[in-house]
This record gives sequence, structure tokens and C-alpha cells, in this order.
Amino acid sequence: MYKTEINYSFGLFIAGEWLEKDKKDLVINKYTQDAFAETATTDEQDVQRAVKSAKEAYSHSFSLYERYEVLFKVAQLLRDNQEEFAKAIAKEVGKPITEARGEVERSALTLENSAEEAKRIHGEEIPVQAAPGSENRRAFTRRYPVGIVAAITPFNVPLNLVCHKVGPALAAGNSVILKPAEQTPVSSLLLTRLFEEAGLPKGRLNVLTGKGEDVGPLLTSNQEINMFTFTGSPRVGLLIREQAGLRNVSLELGNNSATIVHNDADIAQSAKLVAQKSFNNAGQVCISVQRVYVHEEVYEDFLSKVCEATEQIKLGDPLNEDTQMGPMISEEEAVRVEQWVNEAVDAGAKVVAGGAREGVFYQPTILTNVNDDMKVCRQEVFGPVVAIDTYSKEDEVISRVNDSDYGLQAGLFTNNLSFVMKAMDEIHVGGLMVNDTSGYRVDHMPYGGVKKSGTGKEGPRYAIEEMTEEKIIVLNN
Ligand code: NAD
Repeated sequence: MYKTEINYSFGLFIAGEWLEKDKKDLVINKYTQDAFAETATTDEQDVQRAVKSAKEAYSHSFSLYERYEVLFKVAQLLRDNQEEFAKAIAKEVGKPITEARGEVERSALTLENSAEEAKRIHGEEIPVQAAPGSENRRAFTRRYPVGIVAAITPFNVPLNLVCHKVGPALAAGNSVILKPAEQTPVSSLLLTRLFEEAGLPKGRLNVLTGKGEDVGPLLTSNQEINMFTFTGSPRVGLLIREQAGLRNVSLELGNNSATIVHNDADIAQSAKLVAQKSFNNAGQVCISVQRVYVHEEVYEDFLSKVCEATEQIKLGDPLNEDTQMGPMISEEEAVRVEQWVNEAVDAGAKVVAGGAREGVFYQPTILTNVNDDMKVCRQEVFGPVVAIDTYSKEDEVISRVNDSDYGLQAGLFTNNLSFVMKAMDEIHVGGLMVNDTSGYRVDHMPYGGVKKSGTGKEGPRYAIEEMTEEKIIVLNN
């Protein structure tokens, strides 16, 4: 049993009202393992109510300027309430408070950028008159909202990834039904209160909490929902894609991100960034550095520097200012990571830093002597483990980076222009970061993967394209 001191209690948010439910779920502080919040459990009737309210709201005008104003206001309110949000994220995820503050700031930027993009939704002129017989015609396209968007989000970045869906969906003129991750719903429910305060028209945002395996199928089976935007695991992404049928689906899924350190790279800088981006949020980041390929000439130097940086990472209570890494999302997940590392070690890998679990904590861990078929290389670890290996030839390392089911982002440290140009053309990913790790992202850039990392792009401008339909208007005179 969990010790319980409930600081937050939330109902469902439907048609602009909070609906209390008898059935509740507890939200656990991932460091203390005590329950600190409770949320309402969604049933089939609630999904129907939410869809009805979304549809009703959609039938009323919500002008581009009103969308801009509401989103901009929520961004301001988020900044005004940064500390409360950061603390909620630190507790619900186990993310260090300094990182959690960064997430709140980025969430405000995501909403601000969504607000700005609301003013830039436009089509283009199509010169149909260039076709013989169409001389008297003129044509242009316009973008229209898809209608009702269901947004399903993961636990690891519980506020900013919600903003990446709700911001663009509202900016584009849709109504939204949000289903946040059951482990981390608190920050998104606090955000919902800010939308209420900012005057979002009732029914434009509905929030349904509960377990994904229960609420997800209730959403996908409701044919009035026009689009699903999902961020999470490839397993669930595939289920949603199968259940959505012909409806529009946007999927931001996993990765086993690679970063290359070439023989001319700045070793001190690359080691520092690799240590940071392998272990932030305990490695539970979709672009977390997982596989590092280091040129054999600089391997020893790189390894000693990355080990040194890793050993300095301070584990502890996420609410302490000097904590750099907190617990994993659950003990079950920490045990899974432990098993994968042990399995790699049994197959010949060497632990050169970390390698131990204590309850829900798993130490920042570096493995060497790995091969590409170990789970820690081939699958998505989603934990604080990085596998480092050597290479000698550019072609060899590019083909090893590409030898993956995934393709979200990759990193390449080098100043060799011809290697950069080759890598840019040949590495099959959604984004290549030069002189940085796979873990670089700012919120207005196009972000999304190839292969099993998903389909569709996020970043407000690109998400708005996904969440609108383009219509051509042809005028005949
Ligand atoms: P998850 O797939 O377990 O859960 C994500 C969401 O799906 C949650 O809200 C959950 O309740 C819901 N869900 C679960 N079962 C469902 C079902 N049957 N139908 C509908 N919804 C269901 O993922 P997670 O553990 O929360 O997050 C980790 C994964 O997310 C990793 O694979 C990570 O790489 C990925 N991720 C990707 C990105 C990206 O932008 N590409 C960003 C962050 C996380």
C-alpha cells in the first residue's frame, strides 16, 4: 500500500466543467513512492460526453485571433506558475527540478509558437490557367481543421508533449480530447486549469484520465473522432494505427539513437554532451543517446572523459536543487533495464561506469565491448544506459547507425565536411545533428522519425499541417 497525502484531486474535464467520479486512480511521487494526487477514471459514457462536447464546441466560431489570444495567455500563465508546474513534474516523473523548470519554460514556448502559427495558416495559389482550356479559371487552396483530434501522450515529458499536441490542434481550429499518461497526468490537468482561466471556449479542450489500455480503445472505436495524434511506444502506436482505420494518425514513437564521434571531433565537448544527453531524465527521452560509435583513434580519450563526466552525475531526490538524475518511472522499469544490462554482460559486454540498481534508481551506466545485436543496442533501452563501440571507416559506421528498426534522430561530431555531407545523405533519420548528439531539439523545428520511429512531424507549424486538411477552390469565369 502507498502512503497517501493527496495534494491534488482532479475530475474529468468535459464541456468546460470538472466532472467528479467515484472511481479514482492514484498518482505516485516517483521518488518517495507515496501517492500525492488522484485523478478520475474515464468510462465509455464519459468518452461519449467528451466527443459530444467537442463536436458542439466545433460548431461555434473560434477565430484565428481568439485562438492566438488564448494560447498566448496560457503561455504567460505557465511562466507565472512555473514553480508549481516544475514541482508537479518533478514528483510525477521523478525528473530533477532544474530539468522540470526547463520543461515548463519550453512548454510556454511551444504554446507561444502555436499562437504565432495560428496567424500563418494559409494555402497557395495554383495556376490552373496554365492548362489548355482553363485560361479563364483561377484556383487557390485553403486549410481547414480536421475536426475532433484525440491526443494521447507519454509519461516522460508530460507537459511539453501535451503542449505539442494541444497547442497546434487548437491553433488549427480543432476541438481536442486529451488522454495524458496515467503515471503523469498532474501537470496536464494543471495546464487545463490555465486554459479555463484564459477563457478557452467550453468543449474545445476535454481531458479524460485513466489507463491507456481502457480509455484508448474507447477513443479509437468512436467514429466521430477525426484524427489521432499519439506519442509513445511503437507497440501502442501500431495498435492505434490499426484501430483508427482510414482516419488520420500521427505517430511519434521510439528510437535507439546513435551518435558518432569522429577522429577530428572536439573530444571534451562531445564527451560532455554525450554524458548529459544519455542520462537526462534517467535516459527516458526518445532521443536519448543510446549507441555511441567512436573512431578508434580517439576512443580511449573519449571513453575516459565520458566516464569521468558520468561518475560526477548526482543521483537523488528530484526536488533537491543539486540532483542531476532522479529515479526511473517505476521499479519494474528499473528491473527491466537491470536485466538487459546483465544479459549484455553475460554476452561479453563490459560495465565501465554504473551498472547497479537500487530500488527505482538505476545508475548512469556505460557499456563497452558490445555488439549490435544485444538488446541494449538493438532495442530501445529507455533508461540510463549507453553502449559505446569503435569504428574505423565512415561507410562502416553509417551502415551500423542505419542498421536499426528506428530512425528518429542521430548525432555526428566532426568538422570533416565531406563526412558531414555523406552522413546527411545516407543516414536514414528524421533529423541529423552535426557537432551535437541525437538529443538536440528545440520546439519549433520539424521533429519526427522514419521507419518504426513514426509518421508525421511535430513542431507547431508542422503539426498544424497534420491537423488540417487542404482544400482547393477553383473559380470559373
Ligand atoms: P506508452 O506507449 O506505454 O504510453 C503512451 C500513452 O499511450 C499513454 O497515455 C498510455 O496511457 C496510452 N496507451 C497505453 N495503451 C494504450 C492503448 N491500448 N490504446 C491507446 N492508448 C494507450 O509509452 P510511455 O511508456 O508512456 O512512453 C515511452 C515511449 O514513448 C518510448 O517508446 C519513447 O521513445 C516514446 N516517446 C517518443 C517521443 C517522440 O517524440 N518520438 C517522445 C517521447 C516519448
